[in-house]
Amino acid sequence: MPLTVHQFPCLEDNYGFLVRDEASGLAACVDTPESGAILRELGKLGWKLALILNTHWHPDHAGGNAEIQAATGARIVGPKEVTRIAPLDREVKGGDEVMLGETRFQVIESGGHTLGHIAYFDPDDRVAFVGDTLFALGCGRLFEGTAEQMWASLQRLAALPEDTRVYCAHEYTASNARFALSVDDDPALKARAEAIFAARERGEPTVPTTIGLERATNPFLRAPVLADRVGAAGENDVKAFAAVRAAKDVFRG
Ligand code: ZN
Ligand code: FE
Repeated sequence: MPLTVHQFPCLEDNYGFLVRDEASGLAACVDTPESGAILRELGKLGWKLALILNTHWHPDHAGGNAEIQAATGARIVGPKEVTRIAPLDREVKGGDEVMLGETRFQVIESGGHTLGHIAYFDPDDRVAFVGDTLFALGCGRLFEGTAEQMWASLQRLAALPEDTRVYCAHEYTASNARFALSVDDDPALKARAEAIFAARERGEPTVPTTIGLERATNPFLRAPVLADRVGAAGENDVKAFAAVRAAKDVFRG
């Protein structure tokens, strides 16, 4: 039985995600950017919240944990770093599994944006919740981890099946596309960027993306072939990635 995903905007540019395991009727909330919006959506859907799944400790991801747990009684699952701001009922790390009814989520270590960041992957439905690790045409800023750690995390996500639907936690895609076009002139990227600008013009979300699309057009995953465009010609993959990340950090456009 499938997993249903309900996506809605929260705060300035976050997405909220509610998922339901159709076999059991149990629901989970992936991160808690805005408790009011999440509880409102839950009420509209009439879903019973069993779990909160956190990807990392940042307040726009775990800041609503306490209020949502108080309102629903859901158990909170996440990486240890979340305890910096709120208690966890279960601590998980890469390689662990989390069950929501009959749906199995594999926990994938995806540190770099924060040290303990994790992603959740449901292999039967090919759905991944990647927090602030991989974005449509982008990747998270390196607030705590190293380029080496983030590159390894991105490689783990890029190795998922091509048709995996990737739910990123922010709508950053139009600005990511402007940066991507500044370092890459691949025709597939140009076509995708046009589609993204048009979608945003219409007010449509660009999330979810897919692993296949990101592998083909994401400048961070394509860092090794873009090395000469970012001053890292002849360098290894991690250094090429670090150079793309550094270029994006100062990009204004
Ligand atoms: Zn974050
Ligand atoms: Fe975030």
